[in-house]
Amino acid sequence: MAIRRIEADVVVLGGGSAGTFAAIKAKNANPKARVVVLDKGPIETSGAIGRGMDALNIVSVPGYGTPEDVVEALTKVSEGILDQDLAYTLGQGTYGVIKDLEDYTGREPGDLFPVDENGNYKCNYLHPTNKPLYLAMDGEDIKRALAREVRKLGCTVLDRTPVVRLFTEDGKVTGVFAFNIRTGQHYLISAPAVIITSGCVGKFGMPRDGYLSGIYEFPGNTGEGFSLAYHAGAELVNMECFQTNLLMKDFNGPACGYVVIPRGGYGINALGEKYWSHGYWSGDMFLAVWKEFMEGRGPVYLKLDHLPEETIQGLEKILWGTERTVRGQFHKQRNENYRCWDSVEQGMEEITLCSGHSMSGIFVNKNTETTVKGLFAAGDCAAVPQQYLPGAFVFGGIAGRAAAEYAATAKAPKLKVDVDNLWKEIRAPLDRPDGLPVDQVETKIRTKISQYITPPKSDPLMQKMLWWIERMRREDVPNIKVRDYHDMIKATEVQSIIDCAEMATKASLFRTESRWGLSHYRLAYPARDPKWDGKYCVVKKNLDTNEMELSSKDVQKYKWDYPNRLEYDYPEMKHDLGKGFTHPPNDFNDPWIVEKVDREGMDIPKRMFVKKED
Ligand SMILES: Cc1cc2nc3c(=O)[nH]c(=O)nc-3n(C[C@H](O)[C@H](O)[C@H](O)COP(=O)(O)OP(=O)(O)OC[C@H]3O[C@@H](n4cnc5c(N)ncnc54)[C@H](O)[C@@H]3O)c2cc1C
Repeated sequence: MAIRRIEADVVVLGGGSAGTFAAIKAKNANPKARVVVLDKGPIETSGAIGRGMDALNIVSVPGYGTPEDVVEALTKVSEGILDQDLAYTLGQGTYGVIKDLEDYTGREPGDLFPVDENGNYKCNYLHPTNKPLYLAMDGEDIKRALAREVRKLGCTVLDRTPVVRLFTEDGKVTGVFAFNIRTGQHYLISAPAVIITSGCVGKFGMPRDGYLSGIYEFPGNTGEGFSLAYHAGAELVNMECFQTNLLMKDFNGPACGYVVIPRGGYGINALGEKYWSHGYWSGDMFLAVWKEFMEGRGPVYLKLDHLPEETIQGLEKILWGTERTVRGQFHKQRNENYRCWDSVEQGMEEITLCSGHSMSGIFVNKNTETTVKGLFAAGDCAAVPQQYLPGAFVFGGIAGRAAAEYAATAKAPKLKVDVDNLWKEIRAPLDRPDGLPVDQVETKIRTKISQYITPPKSDPLMQKMLWWIERMRREDVPNIKVRDYHDMIKATEVQSIIDCAEMATKASLFRTESRWGLSHYRLAYPARDPKWDGKYCVVKKNLDTNEMELSSKDVQKYKWDYPNRLEYDYPEMKHDLGKGFTHPPNDFNDPWIVEKVDREGMDIPKRMFVKKED
């Protein structure tokens, strides 16, 4: 099959929330710009909001909050590791996003978003500050509306065509390589500007139900953005701050605390007690949950039964409609009902790397520029702490405009790629006659991630993880066998997950303290250390040696002096096991086994397969 070559101005790598906004705003900024959007799925349904979304988790709207309030909330939850310019830019941009979404969906104020008696968008409390910064949304159709806009503006959309290589020359972006997962049609696309919007590392730790795709996040989000940026020499930060998800037990989806808590719900333990002051998904809350389990008060639940009947019905509509539609069936078959106190059991499930809900990702400034020229990043893969969906839209839009402007003045790159050899290398798992099934290798790396680096983090376990990574790269990856083009992308995904595991483990070992509650609770250093205040841990590839390098760098000087710590102490792990039984000591010398070796030698097995005499 012949390769297709495309010359573009802007490539958008991932057509999810941030990617669709980026494409739209790039076209708005320069209608003549040749914008190519590539995604693993069809952009109508791909990404975290493919099934719709029910809130903008952090906004500043007149009458309720200001951009400074957004800075205050994010300064607190990021515990001092924040570029406040990013938070302010997010706060400034959210009102425009609300208007854009009404425009693209064709829906009125009061329909897509609730409004109060003064006609303002009506916000609720969610964050651990005294400002209402949460705006509910009836967003069942928003992804389809965004996809429609992207196509209407004349972007080239390559659905089911993931990017597997990103090229640079002299430190500047030159293009990408991608293939269609159904047909194998492959593309070499040259462009001076590439925007990475490929979402979080959703497939990272193993979910406890054992299903590889039974995860909270969109299953196509496997960290290629993180990995491609790393191999291009970009800096990544906060890779040690893991997202430790508190999800609904046995169900592949969120518990939806953020739907329930702004309407009066809260978390309780098995004794029916409220176990933590707030329900915001922050490290302190995860630490509180973990403590409940360790001290014998798990499981924990989302309590709803005290709410008025009409609120419960409204919650059912959102949770079973806009969120995952199988949720209603799930409860029905278990005979569960939100009018019972224990109907939504929660558990700490798979870990992920994500900036939307947490803070790890590609380092960017407020214009979404990375540290590589021509490379931009936005959404869950760019390190803007706890930016959620509003951040994906605001920074996606900024990235689109910035990339279009940059491309308009940049020289068209000439891609020098040995395409035949590259394609041979990428399809090697398909052409190999025999080997390890890719799902088996994915299960292995993700199980190791869960076993060795899930917080609380242990140094010896993390060292062992590095040993496994090296071993899997040497023994497993070169032997992966796939059956078709669809599976072929999984071979790339496994390698991205391994890259991300290495970055996460090394960053976790580099930051010699605990921070962000359970998200980076390190048993060898179980407290915050002031020497790490205001310091990023940076992960970067040395392009001369191909080695991963770790360093620290200062967070941008604060403009606003808001509190930068959540109120909690790290629990100390002290278990007194008492005195155990000890038997009399044995000899170190055992003549019986020594004599056996002397007499029979070391051949194993010797009785089953008797050596033939020559
Ligand atoms: C279940 C759930 C509920 C949530 N609820 C809320 C909420 O109520 N409010 C809120 O504010 N936030 C919420 N969030 C967070 C919010 O949805 C995300 O922060 C946001 O959608 C991230 O956008 P993104 O563009 O970065 O990633 P996504 O929208 O996930 O898009 C990433 C895209 O990249 C594509 N991709 C991946 N790899 C490649 C590749 N190699 N090549 C090409 N394409 C690739 C994927 O196919 C995908 O379409 C929720 C998230 C989840 C998972």
